[in-house]
Amino acid sequence: MTAVFSNEEKVQILADIVKIKSVNDNEIQVANYLKDLFAQHGIESEIDSISPHRANLIAKIDNGHPVMGISGHMDVVSEGDIDKWDYPPFELTEENGKLYGRGAADMKSGLAALAIAFIEIHEQHLLKEGSIQFMATTGEEMEQLGSKQLYEKGYMDDVDALLIAEPTENNLIYANKGSMDYRVISTGKAAHSSMPIAGQNAIKPLINFVQNIDNAYEEIIQTQSMNQIDCSKFENRLASVLGDNTDMSKVRNMLSGLVITNTIFNGGAQVNSVPDKATAEFNIRTVPEYNNEKVKQLFQHYLDKENEQGAHLEADIYLDLEPALTTGKNNLVELGHQLGETMFHKSLGVTPMPGVTDASNLLRGKDESFPFLTFGPGATAHQVNEYVNKDTYLQFVDYFTQLIPTYINENKR
Ligand SMILES: [Zn+2]
Repeated sequence: MTAVFSNEEKVQILADIVKIKSVNDNEIQVANYLKDLFAQHGIESEIDSISPHRANLIAKIDNGHPVMGISGHMDVVSEGDIDKWDYPPFELTEENGKLYGRGAADMKSGLAALAIAFIEIHEQHLLKEGSIQFMATTGEEMEQLGSKQLYEKGYMDDVDALLIAEPTENNLIYANKGSMDYRVISTGKAAHSSMPIAGQNAIKPLINFVQNIDNAYEEIIQTQSMNQIDCSKFENRLASVLGDNTDMSKVRNMLSGLVITNTIFNGGAQVNSVPDKATAEFNIRTVPEYNNEKVKQLFQHYLDKENEQGAHLEADIYLDLEPALTTGKNNLVELGHQLGETMFHKSLGVTPMPGVTDASNLLRGKDESFPFLTFGPGATAHQVNEYVNKDTYLQFVDYFTQLIPTYINENKR
C-alpha cells in the first residue's frame, strides 16, 4: 500500500502543533490534535489527565508482544525574547530548506514524525504481530510530570522496548544522566544590624554549607572514576566555548561524571537587618557511580553538620530523576544504527548523553539490557531561531515507519 500522507501534509501537521503554544503548559491542545488525527485513521487514543490544561496521550496498536513504546514530549521551552527571533516562534516558517519555530527541533518534529509513522504503520498494515504504544508526554522540560504519571500508572509495565524521538539527529543515544534540583532553606532570626547578637544570621551557615559541598564535590571528582555514562563524544561541542588552555581531564570528568552546580543563592532583605532567611539551590547531574541516593546522603551530612552547630537548614528536593542506564548492546540500537546510516547516508554516533529526558521515568525498574533508543530529527534546542531541516524531518518519518515494524517483526517471542 502507498503512503497515507504527502510531504505537504507532513509539514502541515508539524506546523499545526508548532502553532499550539505549549510552553510548559497547555499540552492538552496538542493531545487533542493528535487524538483527532489518530481518530481520522481509525486509531483510538486516551487522554491521561494531570491538571485542567495538562495531559498525556496514549494510543495503541495492540496485537500482543513485543510491545514497542514510542514517545515524545508535547511541551516546549519559552520562546524567550521575541525580538531576538528572525521568525515568529509559533508559526512554522520555511526558508532555505529549514523549518523554523519553537519546538521545530525539541521536539515537535520528532513527535509529529512518530505520530505520522504510527498512522502509516497502521494504515499500511506493516505490523504482522506485536504492539506499538504511542505516548505523548507533558512537562518534560521542567519536572517530567507526564512521564512520571505514565510510569506510576503502569503504562510501561508491558513495554519491551522504548524509542524516544528527542533531537539527536547525529547520534543514537542509549543512556543519559539523572537530574536533581535541591533547595536548602536557612532560617535565622531578624535583628537590627547594630546588635547582631540579638539575632541569628541565616546567610552564614548557608555559605558554609555551599562551600562544604563545593569542596566535597572537588574531592569526589578527583578521587572517584565515573565513566558508565561516557559522554566524551560531546567534547567537540564544547570546544568553541573553551579556551586553548582548558584542562581536558576536567572536561571529561564533567561530561561523564557527577556534576553539582550551585545556581541560586538568595539571602537578606535590608542592609541594616540581620537576615532571617536565605536559600541556596543546586542542580545536580547524577551518574550510576554517584547516584541520587548518594547525593542525598552527601547533602544531608553537611546539613546535619550546620544544624548541630545551631543553624536551621532544611532541604527541599523538588526534582529527583535517576540516570537512565542501558548498555546499548541490543537489537534496537543495532538495527537503528544500521538503518539510520543507510537512510541518512552518513555515519552516526552511538553514545550516552549528558542531558536528561523522560527516559529517567519511563525506564524505572527496567534493567541495563533493556532495548532503549533516543534518536530524532533536529540538533538545536532551547535557542532562538530553532529549526529542523525539512528533509531531515521527512526522512525521519520514513525511518520510523521502517524501523518500528522491522524491529517488532524481528523480535517476536
Ligand atoms: Zn526535548
